[in-house]
Amino acid sequence: HDYSKEDIFRIVEEEDVEFIRLQFTDIFGVLKNVAITSSQLQKALDNKCMFDGSALEGIVRFEESDMYLHPDLNTFEIFPWRPQQGRVARFICDVYKTDGTPFEGDPRYILKKVLKEADEMGYTFNVGPECEFFLFHTDDDGLPTTITHEKAGYFDLGPSDRAENVRRDMILTLEDMGFEIESSHHETAPAQHEIDFKYDEALATADNLMTFKLTVKTIAQRHGLHATFMPKPTMNSCGSGMHVNMSLADKDTGRDIFDRTDGKLGLSEDAYHFIAGLMKHMKAITAIANPLVNSYKRMVPGFEAPLYIAWSATNRSPLIRIPASRGQSTRIELRSPDPTANPYLTLAVCLAAGLDGIKNKLAAPSGIDCNIFDMTDDERKFVGIDSLPVDLYEALQCLREDKFIMNVLGPHVSKKYLEAKEQEWNSYRRQVTQWELDEYLNKY
Ligand code: GLU
Ligand code: MG
Ligand code: MG
Repeated sequence: HDYSKEDIFRIVEEEDVEFIRLQFTDIFGVLKNVAITSSQLQKALDNKCMFDGSALEGIVRFEESDMYLHPDLNTFEIFPWRPQQGRVARFICDVYKTDGTPFEGDPRYILKKVLKEADEMGYTFNVGPECEFFLFHTDDDGLPTTITHEKAGYFDLGPSDRAENVRRDMILTLEDMGFEIESSHHETAPAQHEIDFKYDEALATADNLMTFKLTVKTIAQRHGLHATFMPKPTMNSCGSGMHVNMSLADKDTGRDIFDRTDGKLGLSEDAYHFIAGLMKHMKAITAIANPLVNSYKRMVPGFEAPLYIAWSATNRSPLIRIPASRGQSTRIELRSPDPTANPYLTLAVCLAAGLDGIKNKLAAPSGIDCNIFDMTDDERKFVGIDSLPVDLYEALQCLREDKFIMNVLGPHVSKKYLEAKEQEWNSYRRQVTQWELDEYLNKY
């Protein structure tokens, strides 16, 4: 969209919009909002709506901190699932301090900062995500379970894919909200699905991911199901990933700069530098792209999720894959992120790492063209393949040590993020799990 204030007033009037949600995303990737009635629209569009900005840091709030929400006019959207009269619409907002400057704790601002840097280098950053999720039954109280009655697998279709109609409803709703859906399919695990929408500039994609998750959850609920983006809800099946397909375009001509017909594998030098930058900062990126204790239960052998820091143009097993298409579709696919990652922060750190590779002409190691999981530890060591962090604790240590990525996040977010995540780890660490009782209680 390219809306003016007048456009917004007109649509609100014509479409009988009664409620407007001012949305923002906290640093942990959770969508939040303040609702206003359309009588307050003028005030909202004048950037005068205030809220407690400490909400961006999640859980505890020690002090109220007044901040302003600046609606991004182009993100105006009516929720198709709400009533036709007295309709509900939303804006995605930027967060500003009372002195009129952007709040450093706003993830959208952090992405914008890195995008500005890319822009100064002459690039537009395009991103296409592949978001996976599970659909489970709810119990009698309407609470989510991990129960499903369906047994379908990769690319299966109805009637064994019982959720076909739910997925269809999700897609139609997303299309109503301006999404261009490219494909959807049943994923490998029972009750696991994927819906892919068209790539866009990174900021729009991050906004879209937040809208996507809200929509998928809302429509699932309407069908009496619970949609979850939790990375590994069931132990013996694949978890949910959120692969991100990234490319840089020349900002004037739109040409994909990763593509080069006479380059090695049809890729440009900058594509290799970008890969090298990603690999260099991968461990710290993992703390952002795989933010939960549970994220690391997805990244174990045997479930199609990456474990090793390597790239390939031919094999699907490594962390970074170069899909076969070239020309304007030349892109780098990062397979580690999961759908609970904050999309703004994740795209910010990935882009910054890639640009670091380009600026410093970092050299990518050679690609791995065999199944990396078939190699022994010694073989991997011999060719210099490093591993991703194995748990949240290791990832947080790696983040702390990577001054470059810490700097991309800025002092405010990096401090708050590490504090909260270390607390999360410590709370988990105390747990005595059923697995431990089963293994040890009787034996020792
Ligand atoms: N579900 C797999 C994961 O955990 C990815 C499957 C696929 O290749 O789409 O990342
Ligand atoms: Mg998939
Ligand atoms: Mg993929």
